[in-house]
Amino acid sequence: MSFGLIDGFGRIHDSLRISVTDRCNIRCFYCMPEEAVDYARREEILTFEEIERFVRVAATLGVNKLRLTGGEPLLRRDLPKLIERLASIPGIHDIALTTNAVLLSQHAQALHDAGLRRLNIHLDTLDRERFRQITRRDDLPRVLDGINAAVNAGFSRIKLNIVAVKGLIEPDITPMALYCRERGFEPRFIEFMPLDAQSIWDRGKVLLADDIINLLSREISPLIAVPDADPRAPATEFAYADGAGTVGFVASVSKPFCLNCNRIRLTADGKIRYCLFAIEETEVKSLLRNGAGDEEIAEALKRNVSEKWIGHQINSTKFVPPPRPMYSIGG
Ligand code: SAM
Ligand code: SF4
Repeated sequence: MSFGLIDGFGRIHDSLRISVTDRCNIRCFYCMPEEAVDYARREEILTFEEIERFVRVAATLGVNKLRLTGGEPLLRRDLPKLIERLASIPGIHDIALTTNAVLLSQHAQALHDAGLRRLNIHLDTLDRERFRQITRRDDLPRVLDGINAAVNAGFSRIKLNIVAVKGLIEPDITPMALYCRERGFEPRFIEFMPLDAQSIWDRGKVLLADDIINLLSREISPLIAVPDADPRAPATEFAYADGAGTVGFVASVSKPFCLNCNRIRLTADGKIRYCLFAIEETEVKSLLRNGAGDEEIAEALKRNVSEKWIGHQINSTKFVPPPRPMYSIGG
């Protein structure tokens, strides 16, 4: 196994998040603007061939885990074909998908047949009116159908992403946790991060992981940190004391996990990013399109990783939000 992607702080990068589109069919307020979305032009978006080539090179440098995301990845036509192609690349042994599930009922079986086994489904609430308020669309029934279709298609490792916005999702925490517990899903509460398109984030709007842990411990069963959880995973795992399920927390704001970060990102328009919050990017699309050899692509990747900072500065007065919002980076 080659570990070609080591940064200046000794962190090994073996996990790649690939955004397959910046388009989305809903408009979560903490990610996208309500209107006038500034999408990349279609010709700017990497083709499946280009993504596959990039992953082949990344795999020679030690990348073995992929997550497909967006925008909404199920808007990308023939996504299962891309998954099949990526799964056949030597060295890639884990592929996951993050989706809002609006289109999942149509695609769940094909995704499973293509070899996908890990699904993160983004759903903040079971309340139709609050779903509409958050996403500016009335698609909760489709999302719930999508989740059921995923279970019927054979997906067993389902996680539900819930963005923890203070003053909004408190009434949803226990119902979402119970919904997951009954179905064997893992809820993952993600602290609201400053990546929204309309600059509405402020620290006071972040519902902290500790507050959710206390609430669920009171209302359901005490939550206990899982001792041997993977330190490089973004989510900290907790288990209910009564043994019936686990809960994940992505505490990017209150407990940044940068020191263990093993992730790099490829945007839909072909830029490499060493961090969600990175200000600078390394352009790789032109290399992929202009006949560059694999070594040049590998060099671009290594250069990007070598420039990686020690960590984001959300908690410092020096913090500068990245120039792209979440949907455009790929969450
Ligand atoms: N459309 C898909 C979805 O919503 O899951 C994939 C892309 S979305 C950008 C990836 C994840 O980012 C979502 O599941 C959501 O949990 C998370 N997210 C979006 N905006 C966020 C924000 N401002 N802070 C924290 N998490 C956010
Ligand atoms: Fe779309 Fe996902 Fe962003 Fe929501 S979080 S607007 S579903 S890309």
